Amino acid sequence: MAYDAWFRDAETGAGRWELDEIIYRSPSGGLLEVAHDMERLKARAPAAWMQLWDARYKRTQWPYGSGVWGKKELVLPNIPDEHVVSLDEGGTNLFWAERFGRELGLTDLWVKQCGVSHTGSFKDLGMTVLVSQVNHLIKSKKRDILGVACASTGDTSASLAAYCAAAGIPAVVLLPRGKISTAQLIQPIANNALTLALDTDFDGCMRLVQELTEDKKLYLANSMNSLRVEGQKTVGIEIVQQFDWEVPDWIFIPGGNLGNVSALYKGLEEIKELGIINRIPKIVCCQAEAANPLYLAYKSGWKEFHPVTAKPTQASAIRIGNPVSRSKAVRALMTHDGRVEQASEQELADAAARADRTGLFNCPHTGVALACLMKFVARGEIKRNDRIVVISTAHGLKFTESKAAYHGAGVLPGVQPSYPNPPIELAADVRAVYDAVMRHMERTFV
Ligand SMILES: *Cc1c(COP(=O)(O)O)cnc(C)c1O
Repeated sequence: MAYDAWFRDAETGAGRWELDEIIYRSPSGGLLEVAHDMERLKARAPAAWMQLWDARYKRTQWPYGSGVWGKKELVLPNIPDEHVVSLDEGGTNLFWAERFGRELGLTDLWVKQCGVSHTGSFKDLGMTVLVSQVNHLIKSKKRDILGVACASTGDTSASLAAYCAAAGIPAVVLLPRGKISTAQLIQPIANNALTLALDTDFDGCMRLVQELTEDKKLYLANSMNSLRVEGQKTVGIEIVQQFDWEVPDWIFIPGGNLGNVSALYKGLEEIKELGIINRIPKIVCCQAEAANPLYLAYKSGWKEFHPVTAKPTQASAIRIGNPVSRSKAVRALMTHDGRVEQASEQELADAAARADRTGLFNCPHTGVALACLMKFVARGEIKRNDRIVVISTAHGLKFTESKAAYHGAGVLPGVQPSYPNPPIELAADVRAVYDAVMRHMERTFV
């Protein structure tokens, strides 16, 4: 199997660096991307790729049952299977949001539950690739690496810590103190990562970790490392696969550092080049109004991009003012006429809560994407029978603080909950309980 992949300059497509080199940026300072020998890949017919990937999907043959490693030829073709560090990521459920869709006047609305994953977010898709490559460099004695480090808004560090723990590789995580959820903080602690809570924001942690990893003793795990994008790009391929290789009309995806929206496009572009699909869906990148530099750039007609100072938001994992992958994201969005939308704290909280009432359990970032979808529907930009996929980036259970605050256990700045459902505290008395039930039923069935 002589497939081949290497790093190249993401801007110009020039240069070639082997994946075994420790390099995150091109000499010009731009981002790198992983390039594949597409001519070799095209030697296999589209139908044969679909058949191969379907045969592996969610089976147990190591490591191909993973949603990422099932597409190994298009991800990291030359790593030995025994060096792969996989926690069976990907293969997440695609939820037909039938009742919520009906409320919005839509018939074909789906939520891709990327948070139903080992550490509860889509970050697992990329981290399996990065940690596998590091494991390969260590096991094959190609490089001396002490460990892996990242800055994080909470989910990257949880994922890095888990994959490193599974491989026995030391992990170091830099977090903005007090700006992530309890669940996200406890994940790397439980997985025995060195957990550093710093008095700064994510952008500050990002600057520090870049300096910390400069001498290459620690491998940098942030998404400027293009290996993560290789794993994350499988999400779009997997969505198409789950629809029996049919392309949906719209995909709504939350964006912060903008690695994931870049990855979504890259995967879809590559399977289009392989002849597996013949069009790219309309993609809408969804930002929190509190951290919206991409939205502002889009509104300027892509004329200018200014980093912002990200303000507090329930959607803490996308509280990023200076996104690392902006050049990749902007290029892909411009090429494919992609859209950008934003949601306020009120809009994202209400959208998440309203959809929760139809059986979902949304994190605030998914709330951002749902709120943006509702704006597109309200403006008549989406047809009733369009097939729409909302990418849910994390599990709601990681964000119970903000959900509890919404339902009355606290205060969410700038939010007047439209769908609160606080618990009712009662004496353990059957009459009182019966009355409470009946009052509830009357309210529900008026
Ligand atoms: C990381 C993350 C995002 C944003 O992804 P980017 O690649 O930074 O744009 C969105 N939602 C959740 C839950 C995340 O953890």
